[in-house]
Amino acid sequence: RATNENEPLRAYAPSMGQIFLRRFQLVTQFRSALESGQISVHYQPKVALPSKQVIGAESLVRWKHPEFGRVDPDEFVPAVEATGLVDVLTDFVMDKALERVRRWIDRGLRMSIAVNLSVRTLADEEFPDRVAAALARHDVPPELLTFELTESGVMADPERALPVLRRLHQMGVVLAVDDFGTGYSSLAYLRQLPVDEVKIDKSFVLGMGTDLGDMAVVRSIVELGHSLGLTVVAEGVEDDAARDQLVGMGCDVAQGYLISRPLSEDRFEAWLHARTVQ
Ligand code: C2E
Ligand code: CA
Ligand code: CA
Ligand code: CA
Repeated sequence: RATNENEPLRAYAPSMGQIFLRRFQLVTQFRSALESGQISVHYQPKVALPSKQVIGAESLVRWKHPEFGRVDPDEFVPAVEATGLVDVLTDFVMDKALERVRRWIDRGLRMSIAVNLSVRTLADEEFPDRVAAALARHDVPPELLTFELTESGVMADPERALPVLRRLHQMGVVLAVDDFGTGYSSLAYLRQLPVDEVKIDKSFVLGMGTDLGDMAVVRSIVELGHSLGLTVVAEGVEDDAARDQLVGMGCDVAQGYLISRPLSEDRFEAWLHARTVQ
């Protein structure tokens, strides 16, 4: 049949069977992918507002698959999460991240690194010991390591997540609530968590320019966060207008394409060098 330009996607839309098969392949191939170097960590800078000083970076995992090409973490992280392998992922990312911080310290830079935690990891009572060991191995002070956790991750099993979070917090590691505003967020809930930072979900930050509702949400999260003594971070900052609005609201930290996309290790270092040596 002749191709219909109005429905180009339909011809290529994968069937349920294909989706399932691909997911299955991603899960079964994950460990060997790690070992063969297909998995890497990219870094996206976080800057202070309004100074624009680079205060650290978020680690974001990447998979370059030999058959599928670039696979987004939004696809493979949940697949890996459903197996016991997510610990392997978390430990890999944490190790790379701490190695990076160590290099920065050696060059006289004091910048922190953020690592995303999955629900599963939050339920693992041995995780804090592995974090302590990793910090010691890389000789990095705990306050330069941030863990980002989603509200839904904590709320999935608060009884198990809370003791893990309390121990991490007691060790001096920084804790951030990610994607804030999308889940169960409430003042009462945020107060109960041992967290230091709140990250406003990018959907609100992206919508701020065109949607007064999104703007109101962002403003109230900044106020709520500050009233609880938290650092407020906005992600998804794509243009000057958004940055200026956030500065006006008193938001502390910005992250997004305006500053930089997530970059490979080498490109991040080049970016940093170009910014600091002028
Ligand atoms: P996240 O933690 O909310 O990470 C932010 C996502 O927003 C990243 O997508 C980042 O590339 C993207 N982003 C950053 N700035 C902008 C911007 O200005 N505009 C827009 N539109 N997007 C922006 P990415 O790298 O695809 O990661 C997706 C999600 O995968 C992350 O969302 C996180 O939940 C998860 N993830 C990534 N790496 C890891 C990891 O090492 N472990 C775990 N457990 N999850 C990870
Ligand atoms: Ca994050
Ligand atoms: Ca986020
Ligand atoms: Ca997200």
